[in-house]
Amino acid sequence: MNTTLESQRTSLPLTNAPAGLGRNIDYELFMDCVHCGLCLGSCPTYVETGNENDSPRGRIYLWRAVADGRAELSDDVRRHLDLCLECRACETACPSGVQYGQIIGSYKKDAARLGSVFPTLNTLQRLMLFHLTPYAQRMRWALTPLRLLQRFGLGGAVQRLSRFLPQSLRRMNDIIPPLSPHYGRLPELLPAEGKRRARVALFVGCAADAFFPQTTLATARVLQRNGCDVWIPRAQVCCGALHYHAGLVEPARRFAEANCAAFGEKLAEVDAIVNNAGGCGPVLKEYGHLLANGSAFAAKVRDISEFLVDLGPIAPTHPLNMKATYHDACGLSHAQKIRQPPRQLLALIPGLELLPLAESEHCCGAAGSYNLTQPEMSEQLGRRKARHILDTGARAIFTGNVGCLLQIARYLRESRPDFWVAHPVDALWASYSGEAPPHSQRG
Ligand code: SF4
Ligand code: SF4
Repeated sequence: MNTTLESQRTSLPLTNAPAGLGRNIDYELFMDCVHCGLCLGSCPTYVETGNENDSPRGRIYLWRAVADGRAELSDDVRRHLDLCLECRACETACPSGVQYGQIIGSYKKDAARLGSVFPTLNTLQRLMLFHLTPYAQRMRWALTPLRLLQRFGLGGAVQRLSRFLPQSLRRMNDIIPPLSPHYGRLPELLPAEGKRRARVALFVGCAADAFFPQTTLATARVLQRNGCDVWIPRAQVCCGALHYHAGLVEPARRFAEANCAAFGEKLAEVDAIVNNAGGCGPVLKEYGHLLANGSAFAAKVRDISEFLVDLGPIAPTHPLNMKATYHDACGLSHAQKIRQPPRQLLALIPGLELLPLAESEHCCGAAGSYNLTQPEMSEQLGRRKARHILDTGARAIFTGNVGCLLQIARYLRESRPDFWVAHPVDALWASYSGEAPPHSQRG
């Protein structure tokens, strides 16, 4: 790549942009970047490769050059743009307020428009990503055989046999955690314990619930314990994040419409729409931009940690005598600016010592479908995260997003299958209930 940073362009028209590339963005967003480079050290891909084109500044430059018609959207340019995790750590670091998520989102939308979403994926991976994962019921059915095999102690045999699978399928298998039994179907209404303090709707999600049903249950129970009536709308669907981040705006919009209809029935009666997935929250909060009538829904969306801290959490009493650490999921820390509430909840647990984690806001490499689309970089970042976690001396790691839970567990499993990898609400519920946390990662 022989592109170099140049002085800022002041004229706005995009007359030279081929195929209308970059026209879906407000050009002023490019101009916010003053090329200072203060974001570079926060960018996980730049830290790994040391290549300016893999940095926020480099990618903004590249996409703007394409939009201006000064550069082609070549395979080389696409490789640098596609390597972006969309973690938005650069937004946190940027003193000029660059809305990087909008800029890379504009590239994703154009890539989708050109029919070129995730070119590295094969057909089976595409089917699983867009037609299986976002559908809760299909995911549950798909995981049922594995659940059964793990329950009968055959999880290890499945792992050994997976060595004979093609690499793309092996990667998908490697990420599957020990699966707790699924709870089946929750009642639509769960009453508050004691005096009612709030009424909430619970967003359950798709992959999060299929992989970690115990966390869905813990979320509902923690809410009940904190005096909340919990309404779980039956007709709710995936938040649309997988499609949204792939630039597939129309399918994402259809998910948003379905959720607005499902929750709209009693929207005025609930104080919040609570979710427990750091990757879903930012998209749910974006519904106001996706849909003309999505703002009322979006305004009520809260991560479980921010909701509980605002409500005033009831202190748990059963001790969890262990050292633990906390990883900031990008969707919580960078996209929603939620950093302290999960730590505040964990600090309430008697006996739990929370140790600081180096680079806790550095992406773990999960990033939605990134472990499939960019497996090498995803692995580098997963191993880097696992090293930092092990360096703390903790025996448990908490993080508030399904993708991070899967990724971190996958890379800790190799050396520390006894490590407890869980959502903060799992720890909170263990301390409310006195139920012992699990001790093994592999079923
Ligand atoms: S994105 Fe922000 S921090 Fe990075 S170079 Fe541009 S202005 Fe500087
Ligand atoms: S979103 Fe993350 S990976 Fe992409 S440029 Fe920003 S910091 Fe780097």
